[in-house]
Amino acid sequence: MWVVAFLQQYGFNIVIDWGLEAGFWNASLWQLEELRVIQQAITRLVQVFAGRPIENNLISVIRVNKSGIAESPQNTIRICNDFMNAAMPQVAFVHEFAHAWDYLNGGKFSNSLSDFRGNEPGPTAYGSGPGLGTWSTNPRDDEWAESFAAYVYPEYIAYLRTPGTTDFAQEQRWELKLNQRPEYRNSPQRRPGLGQFHKAYVALQIHGPFWPYVR
Ligand SMILES: [Zn+2]
Repeated sequence: MWVVAFLQQYGFNIVIDWGLEAGFWNASLWQLEELRVIQQAITRLVQVFAGRPIENNLISVIRVNKSGIAESPQNTIRICNDFMNAAMPQVAFVHEFAHAWDYLNGGKFSNSLSDFRGNEPGPTAYGSGPGLGTWSTNPRDDEWAESFAAYVYPEYIAYLRTPGTTDFAQEQRWELKLNQRPEYRNSPQRRPGLGQFHKAYVALQIHGPFWPYVR
């Protein structure tokens, strides 16, 4: 199947769950739309990595019969039943890819981010980052995954700031909290979004140690 072959050439093993088994045909949990979204997301990753290998290790992508959008235990990305109901499913996939990529690199991307970014808030309420004070304190893993997703999909941040969208209210509450803190009040950091240090950090992980950026 063409989508599966496309994804395999970039190191993603789509786990096939259809076919004959003991003389009976098993229908797939995969929907074609889901595979198309994943294909679009990997096409974007290939552009962002600009010729550098994305990951030498194989990342398995499996469709599971479970409520929820997606999850990534270790180096496997699980696509769940509500995947296409995500606000931006391609962003959800790239977020999970960031977790799997981090895992395959011993957690170094999420572990070193907070030292690098100082007190710059993460890009979204969900990935706001631990240890910075009063707003939501999702773990460092999600600060990394949201930073990576916002780097790959800048339109994700624009989406979150569009009134009426799923996460708009949560983002607004977080921004209000940031504005209440004196150290951020007159700073560009009072506005969530992918800040310069988070952006540079993601670029550094993608482009390697010779990326011309010094903190
Ligand atoms: Zn996550």
